[in-house]
Amino acid sequence: MANSQLYVLVGPSGVGKGTVLKALRKAYPHLQVAISATTRQPRPGETDGIDYHFLSDARFEELIAQDGFLEWATVHGKARYGTLRSEINRHFALGRDVILEIDLAGARQIRQSYPQACFIFLSPPNEHVLEERLRGRGTEDEAEVARRLETAKTELAAAGEFEHIVINNQPEQAARELAALMGIA
Ligand code: 5GP
Repeated sequence: MANSQLYVLVGPSGVGKGTVLKALRKAYPHLQVAISATTRQPRPGETDGIDYHFLSDARFEELIAQDGFLEWATVHGKARYGTLRSEINRHFALGRDVILEIDLAGARQIRQSYPQACFIFLSPPNEHVLEERLRGRGTEDEAEVARRLETAKTELAAAGEFEHIVINNQPEQAARELAALMGIA
């Protein structure tokens, strides 16, 4: 465990964390990305155990009670998302570094409980680009887009809390910058 590093990628909804991580994984297939648990419904094309561990509210509650999460948060005032300790420990036991993609509240919890993690904030070039990306995804209705934009604005204001900031102008470039920060480039 002592030799493994935990990287926490944080950034507003719609900034493209998923796309940048995908580019990073493509370039570095050995990179371990922790699979989060969530109570939200799978979107078309998402697979349980690959994109997320899709859990019922009851199962999520049970895991909270068992201290099964390194962090968890209610995101966009709706579903709950969390990092399973078992998921991190599985990689750490093999001496592997792990990267997590989580929201601001979750990152702040990890800052408290595991301050030796390396925190990286992924930022959009500007707010306008963020809104376009949120709408462009087309998977959420108007009310949901508005809710996510509100969250995103609060999250953007927190960029200064993080020692590393990567601007996502272009996913492959951002992935290269992330890789350099992680020492895998
Ligand atoms: P989505 O529903 O679009 O897959 O994800 C919504 C948000 O949930 C993203 O901004 C993402 O950062 C956050 N999220 C995903 N997994 C976790 C997690 O394990 N913990 C926390 N706190 N947030 C997460």
